[in-house]
Amino acid sequence: MCSVQEGEDVSPARKEKIVEERTCMKCEKKAVLVTRVNDAFCKECFMVYVTHKFRAAIGKSKLIRDGESVLVGVSGGQASSCLLHLIQEGLSGRAHKKLRFKPGLVFIDEGATIGMSAEERLANCTQVLEIMEKTGFPCYLKALEQAMELEKEAFTNTADQTDTASVTSVENLTKLHRYDKAEEELLALMDSLKSVSAKEDLIKSLRQKILIDLALKKGYSKVMLGDCSTRLAVQLLTDIAQGRGAHVAMDTAFADNRCNDITIVRPIRDFSSKEVAMFNILNNVPSVFIPRITTKAADSVSIEHLTERFVTGLQAEYPSTTSNIMRTGEKLHTEKKSSSENQCAICQAPLDTDVPPSSALSAVRFSETVSRCSSVTLSIFSTDTACCGGGTCQSEGQKESECCGQGDGSCQSKESKLTRDEVESALCYACRLLIKDLGDVSKLPKHILDDISQRQRRTKMKSEIEDFLLDPSNTPD
Ligand SMILES: [Zn+2]
Ligand SMILES: [Zn+2]
Repeated sequence: MCSVQEGEDVSPARKEKIVEERTCMKCEKKAVLVTRVNDAFCKECFMVYVTHKFRAAIGKSKLIRDGESVLVGVSGGQASSCLLHLIQEGLSGRAHKKLRFKPGLVFIDEGATIGMSAEERLANCTQVLEIMEKTGFPCYLKALEQAMELEKEAFTNTADQTDTASVTSVENLTKLHRYDKAEEELLALMDSLKSVSAKEDLIKSLRQKILIDLALKKGYSKVMLGDCSTRLAVQLLTDIAQGRGAHVAMDTAFADNRCNDITIVRPIRDFSSKEVAMFNILNNVPSVFIPRITTKAADSVSIEHLTERFVTGLQAEYPSTTSNIMRTGEKLHTEKKSSSENQCAICQAPLDTDVPPSSALSAVRFSETVSRCSSVTLSIFSTDTACCGGGTCQSEGQKESECCGQGDGSCQSKESKLTRDEVESALCYACRLLIKDLGDVSKLPKHILDDISQRQRRTKMKSEIEDFLLDPSNTPD
């Protein structure tokens, strides 16, 4: 996002104010920029203001402890480069009160999603890696297609030394692009999603999975992201438009604790994109431009792209737009469910699909069922998955095999293929919309399917032994 859109250059009236040689609102020196609605700052006071805002966000939350390992997601873009610079300054001896956490940096290459050539991807990685290496912190490189190969049980410490090793040279970089099979799988998955909105949404979820997975494997307990307020205001409105209203609070708050072991933090969420751009210009902070799926596309290509256009357009006329959106969003709250069974298998947000029969969601579900199998009218009221009519569906794909000894009935149905209804039962409302276009649900990443199968087996087993379980409400006092 360009800073010119948001500030002084749009209306001739505001331009006048700059030409008039304004003085800094703090120290009466000559102002070099105007931020927020009408605050003029000189360079020094602006730096103090920005640094204070960053430190206050971290300090106020009291979430990041001394010596804690924090994984910082670097995209190469303006906001994450700004965040990286602030972290570096905060950790250096020059800082007034030193930050005391231990950062590690990760860049996720998403070139596969827009069909970039291997050379282009390598060039982008090299550029970002150069910026990351200069900081001296541990650096990791990941490719988005690696999300297809994540293991369901990666959440134990079985680190794969080759692909998560910290990258220190460009030779190691080339190793990154050996995920040909995964790349094909990712492309097949992306191709089967018709809308660009769905693709963007999926990329976001996969990116988050990689970040969480790497953080767990490498012993980081927080993931830090460089989301600025403009970006989050767009995210907030996009979420609502895409049926993620229940997750707005998590997606835009300072701390997102949807994953049990890792908290995602956004320390520059109070910075506007104009402040980020000004900070980078005044400090000569380098950033890398990497095209995304909606770069150069028409405004209406996706919900997020259109929302971005709307918010930045409004912000140019009314400088308090993003802060108003963010303040409204702060009033929202998502209740976190403790069990992972109650989380969406794709985006890991709490499931919002457990609703009473008279809700709008049930109505949608009902009309879908009716239109899908209008010939099998009798089975529509059944909560079980509809029979295919051939008499073979119940045993389709299932192989009886020796017991694996896990004791949760998992071995009996290991080979069975998940049906669409089964997959949907483990997804939130928005992720159900996301996979609507997907012809074959088995194209989803393996770890997601494994997770859903496991939940299915648990539910099945639970229903089988239900009659033998003690009901806590019936126990004598
Ligand atoms: Zn000043
Ligand atoms: Zn979801």
